[in-house]
Amino acid sequence: MRLFDEHVVLRFALLLACLLFAESIPDILNLSEHAYNFIPYILAIVFLAYVALFYKFPVETGKIRNDVEIPEPKVVEPIRDLKKDLLEKDEMFQMMIDVSSDGFWTFDVASGKVYWSNRIAKMLAAENTSLEDTFEPLQKRVIESDWNAFREQLNAALQKAGTFSCNLTLLDASKKNAKFVISGRVQSNDLGRPIRVIGSLTEKIDRKPDEREAYNFVYQDALTGVYNRKYFLEKLKMDVDIAAKRPDYVFAVALLDIDSFGAINASYSINIGDNVLRTIADRLKSIARPDDCVARIGPDVFAVILHNIESRDPNDDLIPLVRNIHNKVKSPILLEGKDLYISVSMSIVINQDVDCVEDILANANASLRDMKKGINHGGIQFFSGGIREKAMKLYKLEFEIRRAIQAQEFVLMYQPIVDIRAGNKIVGFEALVRWNQSERGIISPAEFIPIAEETGLIVPMGALILRMACRQTKLWVDMGYKNIQVAVNFSAKQFSMDSMVDDVRRVLTETNLNPRNLKLEITEYTAMCEADKTIEIMRALSNMGIQISIDDFGTGYSSLSYLKRYPVHTLKMDKYFVDHVADNEEDAAFARMVIGIAKSLNLDLIAEGVETKEQLDFLYREGCRLIQGFYFSRPLNTEMALEYMKNHYNIPSQGSTFETEQEAVKA
Ligand code: C2E
Ligand code: MG
Ligand code: MG
Repeated sequence: MRLFDEHVVLRFALLLACLLFAESIPDILNLSEHAYNFIPYILAIVFLAYVALFYKFPVETGKIRNDVEIPEPKVVEPIRDLKKDLLEKDEMFQMMIDVSSDGFWTFDVASGKVYWSNRIAKMLAAENTSLEDTFEPLQKRVIESDWNAFREQLNAALQKAGTFSCNLTLLDASKKNAKFVISGRVQSNDLGRPIRVIGSLTEKIDRKPDEREAYNFVYQDALTGVYNRKYFLEKLKMDVDIAAKRPDYVFAVALLDIDSFGAINASYSINIGDNVLRTIADRLKSIARPDDCVARIGPDVFAVILHNIESRDPNDDLIPLVRNIHNKVKSPILLEGKDLYISVSMSIVINQDVDCVEDILANANASLRDMKKGINHGGIQFFSGGIREKAMKLYKLEFEIRRAIQAQEFVLMYQPIVDIRAGNKIVGFEALVRWNQSERGIISPAEFIPIAEETGLIVPMGALILRMACRQTKLWVDMGYKNIQVAVNFSAKQFSMDSMVDDVRRVLTETNLNPRNLKLEITEYTAMCEADKTIEIMRALSNMGIQISIDDFGTGYSSLSYLKRYPVHTLKMDKYFVDHVADNEEDAAFARMVIGIAKSLNLDLIAEGVETKEQLDFLYREGCRLIQGFYFSRPLNTEMALEYMKNHYNIPSQGSTFETEQEAVKA
């Protein structure tokens, strides 16, 4: 602190001069011939007195002393007021300061006080978020040479009202010599006098390679180079915080899910799958605007936070924007000289009525889930309240399925499969599950199988179904229906279980059922998933004597080469193709083709969903002999199934074995 202020001394001297002048007036009056000769003296006294008492001397600045002691404040301006000022003037600016990854500081020349943003407090590893309002916190934490360089540069900038920037190395052991750049710009008043310095403190990204790697590891997705889930969630939280303070702040979150990505990996290779992900990431990066944030937040899910949205009405600017993104992302990908067609479902949530990260993500996910189940699969969907309700219903259903497995509320119906070239005799059944719920009655599998598959509940449910079907079949076999064969549906998830073969073997042993009385139905999609593993499982099952059917044949993959490699016994032509065989030449041609494929590969063929005499006649003429459909029977409960068998079972001749009977059917 200084003892004397030079302005006070000056004022004092001026007043002294006034007194001296005043004292000499009587002498002048006595000596002078003219009384008015004293007027200049009077004017000089008035002028000096005015200057001494009222003149505001400019503030002397531009000096930072060695101890960086700043002049005593003339106007006591608490540091909080400065922050408050900023808030009042521009609340948005303050929020940007708070959420920015850079730190900000201001130095008020008149008061000598320094304001540090919270971010700087964190960067400087202060124990609490508020730092002292001097430069001391910085001086204490950086190496001496850096501190001196900073002081010099700040001084120089104050002298010429300019800018400066210099490097700092932090001393804190915890920060491992982290490097920062401190920059500042001097703000001057109308007279060109410096009044304030505004500056930033930025952590240098250009760190040593291992540190850069650590940074990338924390925030970057290693495969695609876009941000990772962690960064995405932090950024989303910032946006939610800004929106909480500013009701007019609009942003949107888009989730992009690659449909059937598992099938891409399975049918091509993991490398191709990786290339697809990289291509999509590059496309998103190229189309995103500078302020948008692109991240990969799940194995095949990307997220984009869209900023700078002018209006809450999506029609204005959001819809064209997301359409553009969707079109670009889903266009075919050229891989190894061939176009790979992909489908991408995109859900969008605007931050309307949502005030937390969890809700935004839950809404976006609910929307995606809803799309994937419906016709909008592969399209764009904006979240709306109803979707969340629907999602809640689904969660409830999932819970109910869990409970129903415990309570054994699932029952099996059996739909006959008939040989029309052998007097419409029954050769087997397909076991079809139903949920017998106490409140709603019988529920169709279409309602709960997809959810059971998605949640993995299909595995315990499937085990239950297999056991029930095997137990029932064994009862029928023991009643004398020795050749009856029951087909059980298996989902992809069940089929990919490592324990699958052992589980099936255990159930057969437990129920004492001959494997030849059991057939497993898998869809083409299941067959294509993890092809090598699937073939291995099929071979093991086949070696045990279990037959395998390809269900819904014709609706999945067009590649037929797999049929030659897989130990498949039966194809089931989907109802979709059977529906119009009698009245649509294209469908008839397709059905003929499927019949031809089965014949040439020496496979059994079952036509599903046969309802009319016309369909039946067509199939008979074309040589398809195994029929399943309402024309013969709907799925039946166990008693009715037994009744059906009693009337339609072809009792094998004495000594006829299961195999010879099947051979006879084939011939
Ligand atoms: P899917 O395996 O293709 O079964 C045939 C479906 O077609 C059955 O429907 C059957 O009732 C129906 N259907 C048969 N003939 C006709 C007909 O002439 N007209 C009409 N309109 N429909 C006919 P359901 O029982 O509703 O089963 C639907 C799907 O649910 C099944 O298709 C299968 O994918 C799945 N599913 C059924 N039970 C099980 C099960 O135990 N496990 C698994 N993983 N999936 C099952
Ligand atoms: Mg089936
Ligand atoms: Mg089917």
